[in-house]
Formats: sequence, structure tokens, C-alpha cells
Amino acid sequence: MTACPFCGGECHQMYPITLGSQSRWLLRCQQCLSCSPSTIFSEQALHEFYATDYFAGEEWQIQKSRLLAADYIKKAEACGLLTLGLRYLEIGAGYGHFADACHHKTHSILDVIELSRDCRRYIESRSPGIRILGATLDDVPSDRIYDRIFCFHVVEHVPSVDLFLSKIAAHLTPGGRLLILTPNAASRSFLRNGVRWGWSCSNQHCTFLSPFIPDSFFQSAGFDVLARRSLRPAPIHTPSSVLLVIEGGLRRLGRLHNESLSARTICAKVGWRVLESLRPQFQQNDPDAKLLRIERFFHRFQGANNRDELLLLLVKRPDPISSDNR
Ligand SMILES: [Zn+2]
Repeated sequence: MTACPFCGGECHQMYPITLGSQSRWLLRCQQCLSCSPSTIFSEQALHEFYATDYFAGEEWQIQKSRLLAADYIKKAEACGLLTLGLRYLEIGAGYGHFADACHHKTHSILDVIELSRDCRRYIESRSPGIRILGATLDDVPSDRIYDRIFCFHVVEHVPSVDLFLSKIAAHLTPGGRLLILTPNAASRSFLRNGVRWGWSCSNQHCTFLSPFIPDSFFQSAGFDVLARRSLRPAPIHTPSSVLLVIEGGLRRLGRLHNESLSARTICAKVGWRVLESLRPQFQQNDPDAKLLRIERFFHRFQGANNRDELLLLLVKRPDPISSDNR
């Protein structure tokens, strides 16, 4: 039996996952429902994959990033995290749209780290309010301390969350907040669909947190839990269960074999004409704009019960040494 790294519960194999040339199993804890890799991927494999392969700089990715940033800003504001005069770090800033919006709201220079070279170049070329510190937390100078650290859809790519949280804790001031947004391991859609869930992404995602991870896990990394919320993702973010229904139909018709499901695959296979007949607003000629519209359209069918995303708001515990000195 493999013990869950979050609660010590018993883990069962779900499906194979890969990162570059490395393969593992995704394990699900029977107690807290979180998922983790059977053996940890090396950091080097992680860095190599995301340095070059993840973001292709295509127009639809940039558009998607812009729409996601608007959703992330709303969620960060709902947690009361965007205040003037604080020190901010974003981990995994992508194309920098959240950091840019945060800069404009708070008038602070945003520090960011981002593994993708193309994304760093993109940010450098157009966002003067953002300071790029490097690729990973190891590139942040050890004396650089923050009041707020943001981590949007990064943790699912991280093979060892306790190590990751400990590194973050070293850069947060006591009482400072860490906001994590990530796919929700306990979502009904994931429990029902397993590897066919929109966010399973078995060639990228190796960790899924759940709202049932005990406080003691976060405390041992230096944090108390202020909030755990199961939320609806941004409309653009997750392929919906409607896509799964369409995918099933395409398989029955013999038009889809073993390709992984994505909105792009669906659009390519169904054909624009069919999708356009569903909704008159699909008439635009720009295929990327169409992709965004179609994802939004499908998302509506997920209904109010869709809680595929998990928000964790953590606060850095007081440093035990400094409190002894008082
Ligand atoms: Zn567990």
C-alpha cells in the first residue's frame, strides 16, 4: 500500500501519467480523495518540459490567458488580497495577464517567476509593471519576502506539494497570504469521469488537491488554512461534460479514435458548420475567437453544480524562533 502524502490514507491506482519520457501512476487517496504521483517526477524533467513545450504563444492561448486573468482577479479580490502598498509574487505567471491587472489595481511592481522562456519574453516585451525573477522559486533571492503569493493552476503540475509549500513559506512574511487555485480532486465530475475529466490531462497534471486534506499537512509546511472553497472555474477553463457526450457520439460514429479530448479536437472533428448551426454567434471567421465562444457555450451546460475548481487560502504561521525571543 502507498500512503497518501497529505493525510496518510491508503492510495489506489487511477491511471498512468507521463511527463516527457517519464511514466508514473496517478494514485487517489481513499480517505481525503487527493491524487498524487506513485513516484515523484524529477524537478529536471519538470523544468525541461515547461521551459519549452507548454506554451506555444499561439493567439488562442494568449486570449485564453487574458480571460482567465479576469476570473483570477475576481477570486483574489473576493479573498481581500489586492491592497495598495503590499509586496506581491506570482508563481507561474504564464503570459502575465493576472500580474499586469494586479499591478494596475495595487500600483505595486509585481514579481513573477515563470518556467516558460517564451512567456518570459512575452512579459518582458509588454509589461513594464512586472519584474521577472527567473524560472523557479530557486531563482528568487533568499532575502526577498512577500505579503501575498499567488499560484493559479500551478499546483496540479507540481510533483511534491510539501516541498513546494516549504519553499513558498520561506518567502512569505508571518501573517502573509498564499492563494492557490487548482483543479478540485473531490469534484463530482472527476469522481465520475476519471481520466476522461477535462482537467485530468495525464501528460501534464500529476497532483490534485482536495478540500479534505487535514490542517496538519499545511501546518507542517508552515501554514494555517483560512479558507477552502470548491468553486466554478472560469468558463474558458475547463472542457465540460457536454464535450464528453459529443466525444462519445463521435466515437460511436467512428470519427474519433484514441485522441485525447480537447475543445480543439472537438472543433476539428465536429466541423465548424455543425457547431455554427447550434448557435448563431459562431459565425465569426476567426477560428480562435470561435474556440473561445464554443468553450463558453459548452460551459453553460455544466450547471450550478459544477465545482471543479478548488481555492485554498493559506496564512503563513508565525516563525517559532522569533516568537520564543519575544
Ligand atoms: Zn489523503
